[in-house]
Amino acid sequence: MDAKLILFCGPSGSGKTTIVKHLLSTFPVLSFSVSATTRSKRNNETDGKDYYFISVDEFTEKISEGAFLEWEEVYENGFYGTLASEVSRINKEGKVAIFDVDVEGGLHIKERFGKNLLDVMVVPPSITALRERLIARESETQETLEKRIGKAGIEMGYRNRFTNVIVNTKLQEALAEAEKIVSEFLNNKEG
Ligand code: 5GP
Repeated sequence: MDAKLILFCGPSGSGKTTIVKHLLSTFPVLSFSVSATTRSKRNNETDGKDYYFISVDEFTEKISEGAFLEWEEVYENGFYGTLASEVSRINKEGKVAIFDVDVEGGLHIKERFGKNLLDVMVVPPSITALRERLIARESETQETLEKRIGKAGIEMGYRNRFTNVIVNTKLQEALAEAEKIVSEFLNNKEG
């Protein structure tokens, strides 16, 4: 497998999705790998663009068909998975797939793709800052907020497993750093 791939992972609320969206609008060669999930759609999301929103039964069926490169039960009954068909679709278009996944999913993708993969973990400056961001996003209940915070604490412990770590203190600086890393990777002929 020679095609280049780009992975962004990090705790929920670290800002990785904002960074990935910025990269997609900056580098036309990138194409977002749309994951499947069983969580319900938020108001600002589009089915087939942000995620494929499917039922737990459909998700389970896809697992048994071997449709996923990796999948995780990120939260109780909240399944998320990277579809192999997304990577082949994107490669056929001659584009570079970019993944936005949780940290464990990121470690699996890293193991799977090795040297053709640019791996980046995005971390918040602190757990307190992360909590404030998740509250500001207004997407969580008290219970899911606490779950996400708890998980983030564990995820932060994996930061030394990734080649590139962006500390998202000021968004503009994090965006510039991400652009630089991606640009160097895309321009590297050996990658
Ligand atoms: P959210 O519900 O906020 O969209 O996503 C929750 C977490 O699941 C985020 O960290 C997101 O990056 C991660 N996620 C999204 N898609 C996938 C996927 O395909 N696989 C894995 N392992 N995690 C994913």
